[in-house]
Amino acid sequence: MALESRNLDDYLSRCSPEIRDIERSLLNRYFEINQMNSLMLFYAGESQETNGQKRAFFQAFFQGEYAAIIEVWQLNYVVAGERAVVLKRTVSSSLPELYRLRFPGLGSLRARNIRLTQKDIEVSFSEGEIFFDNLPDQDTALIIVGKGQVKFKPSDEVERGQLQRRFKKPYFEEPLEYVYVRGSSDFFKNNLSYEFSEQTESKGSQEVTHNQVYSIFSRNYSRSFTVENSLTGELLTFLPRSEETVLEMKTLKKGEFTYVYSPFAEEEISFFDRTRSKLLNSYSPQEEGQKRMFVRFGEKFELKHYEIELNYRPEGGQLAAAARLHLRSLSEGVDSLQLRLNPDLQIHKIEDQMGRELYHTRDRLRKYLYVYLAERVSRDRNFQLRIFYRGKIVPQPPTSDVLPQRTAEDTRIIISYVSNSFLFTQSTDWYPAPVREKYFTFKLRLIVPDGYQCVASGKLVEQYSLKEASNLTELENLGSSVFVFENQIPVKYISFLVGKLNRGRKLTNGVTIEHYTTQDWRHPEKQVLTEARNILEFYQGLFGQFPYEQLTLVQRYWLNYGGHAPPGLVILDNLPVSREPDLIIINPKSPVDLSYWNEYYLAHEIAHQWWGHGLTRGSYRDNWLIEGLAQFSTVLYLKDKYGQKDFENIIKKFSTWVRKKSYLGPIILGVRLSHINLESYQTIVYNKAALALFMLKDLLGEEIFFQGIRDFYQDYKFKEARTVDFRLSLEKASGKDLKKFFQDWFYSERLPEVRVEKRVVQTGASSQLILTFKQLQKPMLFPLRVVLETESGLISHLLIVDSASKSYELEFTGSLKKVKINPYRLVPGNFK
Ligand SMILES: [Zn+2]
Repeated sequence: MALESRNLDDYLSRCSPEIRDIERSLLNRYFEINQMNSLMLFYAGESQETNGQKRAFFQAFFQGEYAAIIEVWQLNYVVAGERAVVLKRTVSSSLPELYRLRFPGLGSLRARNIRLTQKDIEVSFSEGEIFFDNLPDQDTALIIVGKGQVKFKPSDEVERGQLQRRFKKPYFEEPLEYVYVRGSSDFFKNNLSYEFSEQTESKGSQEVTHNQVYSIFSRNYSRSFTVENSLTGELLTFLPRSEETVLEMKTLKKGEFTYVYSPFAEEEISFFDRTRSKLLNSYSPQEEGQKRMFVRFGEKFELKHYEIELNYRPEGGQLAAAARLHLRSLSEGVDSLQLRLNPDLQIHKIEDQMGRELYHTRDRLRKYLYVYLAERVSRDRNFQLRIFYRGKIVPQPPTSDVLPQRTAEDTRIIISYVSNSFLFTQSTDWYPAPVREKYFTFKLRLIVPDGYQCVASGKLVEQYSLKEASNLTELENLGSSVFVFENQIPVKYISFLVGKLNRGRKLTNGVTIEHYTTQDWRHPEKQVLTEARNILEFYQGLFGQFPYEQLTLVQRYWLNYGGHAPPGLVILDNLPVSREPDLIIINPKSPVDLSYWNEYYLAHEIAHQWWGHGLTRGSYRDNWLIEGLAQFSTVLYLKDKYGQKDFENIIKKFSTWVRKKSYLGPIILGVRLSHINLESYQTIVYNKAALALFMLKDLLGEEIFFQGIRDFYQDYKFKEARTVDFRLSLEKASGKDLKKFFQDWFYSERLPEVRVEKRVVQTGASSQLILTFKQLQKPMLFPLRVVLETESGLISHLLIVDSASKSYELEFTGSLKKVKINPYRLVPGNFK
């Protein structure tokens, strides 16, 4: 109270004499040098020390006109008679200095030839007004309004290709209305130039511009470098460091765009179309003569285990939860943590294992939650956090994994159905999760109203009805059902489904497989359990052990056909329509829809237990390791079940789509292809990757190929893998250099353009077919099937084409009726 009322003498009289001088100068510094004018202190608990001292914890919040300082303080004190005497005050954690940014700020000026540059981008205004922020000694933000122009030209070829497809030129150039810029003082000093121009505007039009500037600021401020102060709700900003830059631009005709340069990110440059919510570019700039090595900042902590108690009322969408996080510090002096949480969930309280309440801030746009610890944690220590939160959430229907475009509208009679199931999965962000995907174990206690069932990743270890309340807080839950799930095997996220479910059969020989349907389910069961077991065993034989203890299948109605694959779970969404039993609908418009084969979704989703959960991707670019491998596995299963003819039909379908869409970008653009459109993403990341894997199998031979896949799976189990890791595993198994193959098929969007020349030469009793393959563009590497149809039967050859011109001599006897090159188009390309 003495400090809050700024009665320093009163506070110092409560300190031991030895520290009074230093305390006076340290505390004065906040007010005199940092120009703070108020202090609020929040008591967060205390601990008893061994030497009779006590240690109290406070969150200290200083505010000035332009800035704010947030710190965590520890006060060691003893009680002497009536009074407490402070022996020591330490600052255990402090945020970088925070600012209260305002616009219009300290004024504006009219200028000509304004030029602002950053890597690969230039913004210029022939004439305009520059508005400055309100910070007296710092430049951190600017707004320029006028006749502007932006030119953004990536120094990376693939990225220029992406712009070419979008804007018909390999760069982005548009007239601008305004730009809102965030950068460091040094950035503005070095990268901004302009000439003063005469003040000609009338007063009236200036008023308008000031309002406009205020609204430009409000529109863009929260998008970068800001955190929401949990004590006051105010948005505060920190300063961009070194070269960090954000440009928010409004073009005259094409809407809003954002350019970000961040030297601390794996890919430093990104470019977004905000109006259409599309990420257009993301890359590291190519600099002359040097390849920059990205060093990931050591992650400060590891999340090892969760204990979550969650109460969910489906009718109103109300959720209340307490999550206990078991963490381990990975670096010295950890003082804060960054987590992810749905911004619609309100945090009620965060405490550490000693019951001390902790300060936090949020970045709602990026869904980040920052927690500041009461004391620094040294390296390799276990520590805990408890986060209490609540809110109203009706989980968004997550985007279906396989995503066919067929919906209920284009088919027959909709049988009445009630959407009475709620899937909480990764995209719901329903618990405080690590920012980057990591593996952990968990225990989840779910409380739902009577009549609802829960299924979740992990094993159901307890289920009961709450007949009496064990404590007062459970009173409102009387009569509810409780489900406790546990997973000792690592998962990368936790999912559960609440619904009115019927429990079906259960298979217990081998991996346990359980089956549930929603209560409105009318379709016959169609042997789904037996099928699931066949698929699971087929994959185990090819790739290695199923990663979890059990698999739970749920079938329900949904307005899209498709599936989801959380760890240990498969949710199959069926259309709520009845159709004639023999009527088969295939959607020719979807590149991935193989629902002609009934097992397609099931086989694809089960494959994700290996590809996606057993191991996962290192970056968005490696997404084919999840989707491409799942699609490949599915086709292997369908081939095993239905035979060669069906296999060839599937490959032809994939190949047709790949030839149509491959030009849009290489496989390693990963998830970004979905920003172009869904079909391209599915065609390239699912199907082209599957074709490339079949070609690789041909190139290496079945045995070596699957040995490489098994080694890869084993070596990266419950870890992140990248494309290069996959290549190295197969190179190790085969002893072959596969760089060229991967460059051609994964890193490039090109497809083979080949001219085929045939010549028959008679030598005695036998004849030879001389085949020459001439690649019309930069030569690619691929295995190629050739089938000779002769009087005496079919002769099949597997040839390797690896140079601009390659010839093969193939022997045969009798007369040659036909030559089939690339018979079922496994190599997506043009052969003439
Ligand atoms: Zn998938």
